[in-house]
Amino acid sequence: MPARVVIVGAGQGGLQVAASLRQEGFDGAITLVGDEPGVPYQRPPLSKAYMLGASTAADLALKADSFFADQRIDYLAGETVAAIDRAARTVTLGPGAGLSSGGGHSSGGGLSSATGPGSGLAPGLRLPYDHLVLATGARNRPLPVPGAELDGVVSLRTLSDATALKARLADVERVVVIGAGFIGLEFASVAAKLGHRVTVVEAVDRPMARVVSPPISAYFTAAHERAGTVLRFRAGVARILGEDGRVVGVELADGERLPAELVVVGIGVLANAELAAAAGLPVANGVVVDEVLLTADPAISALGDCALHPSRWCDGPVRIESVQNAIDQAKCVAARLVGKPSPYTAVPWFWSDQGADKLQTAGLAIGADRAVVRGDPESGRFSAFVYRGDRLVAVESVNRPADHMIARRLLAAGVSPRPDEAADESFDLKALAGASGRGAAAA
Ligand code: FAD
Ligand code: NAP
Repeated sequence: MPARVVIVGAGQGGLQVAASLRQEGFDGAITLVGDEPGVPYQRPPLSKAYMLGASTAADLALKADSFFADQRIDYLAGETVAAIDRAARTVTLGPGAGLSSGGGHSSGGGLSSATGPGSGLAPGLRLPYDHLVLATGARNRPLPVPGAELDGVVSLRTLSDATALKARLADVERVVVIGAGFIGLEFASVAAKLGHRVTVVEAVDRPMARVVSPPISAYFTAAHERAGTVLRFRAGVARILGEDGRVVGVELADGERLPAELVVVGIGVLANAELAAAAGLPVANGVVVDEVLLTADPAISALGDCALHPSRWCDGPVRIESVQNAIDQAKCVAARLVGKPSPYTAVPWFWSDQGADKLQTAGLAIGADRAVVRGDPESGRFSAFVYRGDRLVAVESVNRPADHMIARRLLAAGVSPRPDEAADESFDLKALAGASGRGAAAA
């Protein structure tokens, strides 16, 4: 068992490793280094309740201020790890970053928890580790067109981003959202609800195309349109238009101009993998790890949004961007560090709240070739059962939480209802999930 664990990144996954290590009885030293100010917080409400004004920054805190001192976790807030020396087993701190300034909640307790940007530690300070965990997350992909630097073109990843975006939103009427992924659609539904005129521009022919099946895309397209949002598919962005340094609109590839006082960019993320790459660790679309989430260096693990891991849920390695994945991978790493190794095999799941609708998915729809619908989309409550060949690979539920829970059990057990059974509401999926044997896939 390592005596000293250093965790880089104090987001959902990094915090969870620290908490889980203590829950597992780890008695050694834990240092958690995060480049954002304040206590670690939940990101999901940033594009939902927080943006709507239904929750405050304080509501987002993942732990009370006292947690770090109580659990003997040295939390270095507002500090960046700039380099890893694998031979010496140390990390070097960079200049106290304070990447963002609008944090809004304080922290305290722990060795050096900070209320402002940076814990006041000297840049260049080296922290020794016996085991290092990289939980560095991801950052928003920049929009690669002229004008993206104009005032009023923004993206959303941090509490600071969300606070700034909320303030800007109060002063504008027309908003263009680029990207009909999760950020784009969740933000669009909030902005429409707050009375703004919203247009969503998407490069492909349906929303959330990378992660959900066509019936789900169709349902959410109609739901957003009912809320007054205009959705433009197969629309490329040529440039952002500005006057006096401020955004005034978006020009599409076909020359059409969409006026806007605010442009929100949500076109996916890039893994924060540079630190690992600079230390000579294999990096592709993320930090490469094995089935127990170890990098090529047995003293370094990686998890969450930054980790590219083998998965029983798809053919090749995958990088999953969700709260469930960050938390479950953190628990897996913590268990291994206290001598209980096991491969990471959790069923992937996530949710998205858009307007009055809750989407919940279980499994991964990568490489899927067929989806059948259970329930009536017109009723606003249905699920899409998604198949690759004969195998059920994902279930996407709209306002049907019971289907979601059954789906997680079916997938975990490797049990596939036939498509005609999944589509038949009289067929008892719960009984099938409880039964052993039939269809147990070689998952
Ligand atoms: P993060 O939570 O991003 O944490 C990584 C941290 O490491 C960051 O604070 C980063 O600044 C820091 N860091 C990076 N490099 C360094 C360094 N060198 N030194 C120190 N610190 C460093 N998922 C869902 O499942 N459901 C949702 O509804 C949902 N909604 C979301 C809404 C929004 C607006 C966003 C942005 C994300 C949402 N997600 C949602 C995704 C989810 O929040 C992420 O998948 C999750 O936070 C990943 O956890 P992580 O620990 O891997 O990374
Ligand atoms: P995302 O879900 O990957 O969606 C990005 C969308 O933008 C995709 O539909 C993408 O299409 C499209 N796109 C890419 N380039 C474009 C371009 N140049 N012009 C127009 N559209 C373009 O990412 P996101 O919505 O930006 O979210 C960022 C991160 O936050 C992700 O990690 C996401 O999982 C997370 N998040 C999650 C939730 C949730 O789980 N509920 C909510 C909010 C945010 P292609 O797929 O064709 O590239």
